[in-house]
Amino acid sequence: MLEVADALAIVLERTKTFQPEAVPLSPALLNRTLAVDAHADRDSPPFDKSLRDGYALRSGNYGTELIVIEEIAAGQVPTKAVGRGECSRIFTGAPLPDGADAVVMQEDVQLEGDVVRIGDQRLKPGQWVYPRGSEMKAGEVVLPAGTRLNSAAIGVLATIGGADVPVFPWPKLSVVATGDELVPVDAEPGPGQIRNSNGSMLASLACNAGADAARGDLLVLLDDDMEAPPQFLEAHLRAHAGNTRLSGPLIDVLGAVLAQSDVVLLAGGVSAGKFDLVPGVLERLGVRAHFHKVRMKPGKPLLFGTFNATLVFGLPGNPASAFVCFELFVRPALRKMAGEAETGPRLVPMPLAEAIAESNDRPTYRPAKLEGGAVPPLPWSGARDLRAMALADALLVLPAGESRLDRGMNANVIVL
Ligand code: AMP
Ligand code: MG
Repeated sequence: MLEVADALAIVLERTKTFQPEAVPLSPALLNRTLAVDAHADRDSPPFDKSLRDGYALRSGNYGTELIVIEEIAAGQVPTKAVGRGECSRIFTGAPLPDGADAVVMQEDVQLEGDVVRIGDQRLKPGQWVYPRGSEMKAGEVVLPAGTRLNSAAIGVLATIGGADVPVFPWPKLSVVATGDELVPVDAEPGPGQIRNSNGSMLASLACNAGADAARGDLLVLLDDDMEAPPQFLEAHLRAHAGNTRLSGPLIDVLGAVLAQSDVVLLAGGVSAGKFDLVPGVLERLGVRAHFHKVRMKPGKPLLFGTFNATLVFGLPGNPASAFVCFELFVRPALRKMAGEAETGPRLVPMPLAEAIAESNDRPTYRPAKLEGGAVPPLPWSGARDLRAMALADALLVLPAGESRLDRGMNANVIVL
């Protein structure tokens, strides 16, 4: 059976990065990936800047009583150089006047009319001054291509100016949950039925990973006759479906979903049971399978294929398995598609807060909590248990075979 690393290499080999597009500097950039290096157009700060409300003066050459020669607020430009026995009233964010190299806080002086009494304070050069260019220098790369833009990065882009930012488009992702037992989340399950939890979970994971999952959560019943229309579709898919064909035989609906998506996540129906129809359906639709089954727990039934450039993941139906497969294979693919430099998943060694003694036939990924750098494994009833996953902030990675690890020993985790 294929190892996780080899399976991931196959997925990434089939994953293409899109052509960049220009997006205006706005919250729409959040979670997008920068397509080019971003350079500073000027120094920041662009001038030696006061960090306090107080008085700008020359250190070591001031005397104990100074005359205030000017007032400089943020946004103003000083007009007078500060000489011996002089200072300028200055406010946070204002440029230092010529001649001054330090600021004394207003709390630390006495003011009498135009005269500031400093006393015998020792003022250091540069005190309460943020020197020009200390955050960034003109021409410098401040954010390298491949950076996933968070809010601070968007602020940095605003600092360096420019209307449009070249970023990679988000892949369009569709989720198809399968299984005769499933009902939509707003339905009352009948005997033998359960609500579709994979649909919402996978769509939200995709949004979090930087994909356009507005096509949302398509529920089809693959045990149906492929020539009949699907029994039902989730209402929010109808609202976001664009021109996806939602009527006609089920096989055509799936074909349209494939044709209009960059990534399709199917959940359920990929194991070896009589009703696990996904592999056959994908074959019939012309999807080329690259692997089926990976040596991991949970998530072994994973299927990966392509339809032209569209990536198709057949995820196991057990919700925690689908979750783990998403983190190990889908998220890295989405990162690569979106141009991110690091695709992950990144394994981080962390000390265990509790001893572990167990034996696994396959590499095992289980929910864990990071508390003070340690990893108390959460009680978990296995691949079916999404609830423990919901409270986890990491996956604890245990190799196949015996794992006998004392408290305090390092184990690898994937931080979620
Ligand atoms: P399967 O991979 O289709 O054999 O499904 C494995 C298990 O996961 C079964 O117990 C299914 O009922 C459950 N399951 C499959 N799809 C979903 C879903 N969308 N939401 C919740 N549970 C599911
Ligand atoms: Mg099933």
